[in-house]
Amino acid sequence: MKKLIIFGAPGAGKGTFASQIKEVIPQIAHISTGDIFRENLKNETPLGLKAKEFMEKGDLVPDDIVIDMVCDRLNKEDVKKNGFILDGFPRTLPQAEALSEITDIDLVVLLKVPEGIIIKRILGRYSCPNCGAIYNKFFMKPKKEGICDECGKTIEFKQRSDDTEETLKNRLEVFKNNTKPLIQYYKNKGIVKEIDYTKKLPQKKVKKIIKN
Ligand code: ADP
Ligand code: ZN
Repeated sequence: MKKLIIFGAPGAGKGTFASQIKEVIPQIAHISTGDIFRENLKNETPLGLKAKEFMEKGDLVPDDIVIDMVCDRLNKEDVKKNGFILDGFPRTLPQAEALSEITDIDLVVLLKVPEGIIIKRILGRYSCPNCGAIYNKFFMKPKKEGICDECGKTIEFKQRSDDTEETLKNRLEVFKNNTKPLIQYYKNKGIVKEIDYTKKLPQKKVKKIIKN
């Protein structure tokens, strides 16, 4: 049973790496705080409405809201039984400290990507509204233009509303100021593995990273 954190700047490929891990361990729970917020926003839930103004500006949602949400999720049976991948959490020191009180962590995978590539990844990325498969206008279009590789439904380029140039600048800034210091926090615990994620990795390598 694995308990993993995927760590990296916006656009480093946390979601893509999580789906690579799920190819190796299909039952593991993928907990993406960004995805949970977007889902709540779409359904106009109270949680979604609380998060909205922060997400639109590329600011962090306040710690107490995020921590409650993640605690709830980590207490579910499937997570306790099958382990988890945290994607996009923790992002601040208080979040990391709250997490350490509910569970221990086996491994933090730190995805490293040059900033120039990050910007193109974010400004070009989109996903299949039907199955969530991830694509990029510049680097990774579906094999057949307009048709999702995974589920076969039609798909068009549609940016996430916070993937604009202006919001991106703020998100990179927030990452540097609030989230980057966490790398040292986890390095001190001796559980960080740094990965060059400029390119998607072969499955063999993904296995090696998470297996020991
Ligand atoms: P990114 O591509 O920037 O990594 P995410 O999809 O992980 O984006 O998150 C989108 C937005 O959701 C963030 O900009 C932030 O507003 C909010 N969010 C997600 N996770 C957290 C968190 N752990 N703490 C605070 N806000 C968060
Ligand atoms: Zn699809």
